[in-house]
Amino acid sequence: MRAVLICYLTTVFLMKFDVLVVGGGPAGLSAALILGRCHRKVLVCDEGRQRNLRSLAIHGLLGREGKSPSDFLDEALEELSRYKSVSVRGTRVARVIPAGEEFQFVCADGARGTEPPRVCRRLFGLSYAAIAGCSSIA
Ligand SMILES: Cc1cc2nc3c(=O)[nH]c(=O)nc-3n(C[C@H](O)[C@H](O)[C@H](O)COP(=O)(O)OP(=O)(O)OC[C@H]3O[C@@H](n4cnc5c(N)ncnc54)[C@H](O)[C@@H]3O)c2cc1C
Repeated sequence: MRAVLICYLTTVFLMKFDVLVVGGGPAGLSAALILGRCHRKVLVCDEGRQRNLRSLAIHGLLGREGKSPSDFLDEALEELSRYKSVSVRGTRVARVIPAGEEFQFVCADGARGTEPPRVCRRLFGLSYAAIAGCSSIA
């Protein structure tokens, strides 16, 4: 019942964020960490298909040699949890659409929200993360 109510409230009332980070792999979580340190209100949405999860161990990442990717991810989320302005949601961002002076986003779990009008896209190595509303990262 509580879960249904939370889902209903997040669907009806648009959440407002400074930044929406699409994807919670190493790139997205690193971006969220920096933004959290800048006291930005951030939502990370991740559908949980980090590419290196298929691998047994991380190699070539200083200080993390041999670590399992899932342990690495758990630690990263733990570090991020220290920043209260950062929320992580296990869902896919289905749409980001212009709505007046803002952008509105819709998640696969029904959550909706808005973010300011600047949209920046960055390439992190071979990976891709869409980061909205943060001119300092552009
Ligand atoms: C098998 C394998 C082994 C690897 N081993 C190493 C290694 O040992 N050392 C190393 O440095 N690198 C390694 N890499 C490369 C490493 O995976 C990448 O450098 C790193 O994981 C990329 O991180 P990322 O955050 O950019 O992307 P990803 O890890 O791919 O994360 C992207 C996340 O975004 C989510 N996502 C995408 N679209 C949406 C959406 N619309 N809404 C919500 N979520 C979304 C995905 O589900 C995923 O969880 C390996 C890659 C592979 C495939």
